[in-house]
Amino acid sequence: MGLSRTIWNNPTEFIRLHQPENPVLFFAPTVAQAAARRFITGFPGLVTYAVKSNPGEEMISNLATAGITGFDCASPFEIDLIRRLVPEAAIHYHNPVRSLAEIAHAVSHEVKSYSVDSASELAKLIAHVPAEGCEISVRFKLPVGGAAYNFGAKFGATAELAVELLKTVAEAGFTPSLTFHPGTQCTDPAAWETYIRKAAWIVAEAGVRISRLNVGGGFPNHRLEAVVPELESIFDVIGRTADEAFGADKPVLVCEPGRALCGDAFTLMARIKAIRDGEHVFLNDGIYGMLNEMPQIGMIDRLQVLSPAGELRHGEVQPRIAFGPTCDSVDRLPGEILMPADIEEGDYVAWHGMGSYSVVTNSRFNGFGELQMATVLTQKL
Ligand SMILES: *Cc1c(COP(=O)(O)O)cnc(C)c1O
Repeated sequence: MGLSRTIWNNPTEFIRLHQPENPVLFFAPTVAQAAARRFITGFPGLVTYAVKSNPGEEMISNLATAGITGFDCASPFEIDLIRRLVPEAAIHYHNPVRSLAEIAHAVSHEVKSYSVDSASELAKLIAHVPAEGCEISVRFKLPVGGAAYNFGAKFGATAELAVELLKTVAEAGFTPSLTFHPGTQCTDPAAWETYIRKAAWIVAEAGVRISRLNVGGGFPNHRLEAVVPELESIFDVIGRTADEAFGADKPVLVCEPGRALCGDAFTLMARIKAIRDGEHVFLNDGIYGMLNEMPQIGMIDRLQVLSPAGELRHGEVQPRIAFGPTCDSVDRLPGEILMPADIEEGDYVAWHGMGSYSVVTNSRFNGFGELQMATVLTQKL
């Protein structure tokens, strides 16, 4: 997958001229940079980027250009990527479970911030990471809703365990902090409020003053036509709750959005390979490709259909069953997809807001998954 050197006006222009056979991702750097600036301006603390959501070099470089100075990494590969692209950046190694080799890699690459959610993993960090100038954030979880997908199922200590871990972190001479993740595509500001209040409870119980409170990612991107997420109201709740809950002892706030920084910067264009007997739509991309997370977190309904000549289909929308290109029967998009009635074989379906958890999860299963990327000034078709 290469980054096209030409900048196109919009995806329509590219489709009309190339009529690509494989899926194309259209990247709008202006949108990526605007998302970064919206966070930097609005969020009451430090904004870092969760690299896993889209580790594309064009994405990282544009965020760095727009002023993002910290990155949440989960693996040695991501650490190396950030050290290469943004050498001075702060790296937060926020995968709470690491092998000894991974810990050694991070130490040798000057990583000064780690998260942890268990006594056994904390013991490994204490034994192998120099405490001097190094932060360990205890990650905790709560049974709160609001997100499209629950992250607490895998990571996070209970609040009670977090109290004990926080004490151990401080006793071992590390800078103590707390972190949580409310779950991805979280549209309910109340989720952050509940977490921040619990963080204050953990701090009081432990009797340990924390340096920073990382309120995670989970900020939503614009997936549904009718719902434009109000990030500012979430920022507002976070700032206000932290003031109330911590008062004069308020820690520095940090956030680590992935989806909300990269999602809207990309539009996916997938071609209709066939409309089988006038009924089911077969696309050249599916759940083994860029549409991998749809079964877990629900469809993006911001879609439009273009003819190969670049004309928008305007027919009344009707529900269709849609399949991806592989021969696996689970390669089906969830539910039924609303598409204009006048779609034809060879048309292109544009999904807007497809920058997160898409390029990274794309596979070459069954020989599909060849991707192309093109840079555009605007995503407006
Ligand atoms: C995945 C992840 C994020 C980013 O989550 P989004 O929902 O994409 O914002 C942030 N922090 C941690 C620890 C993560 O694992």
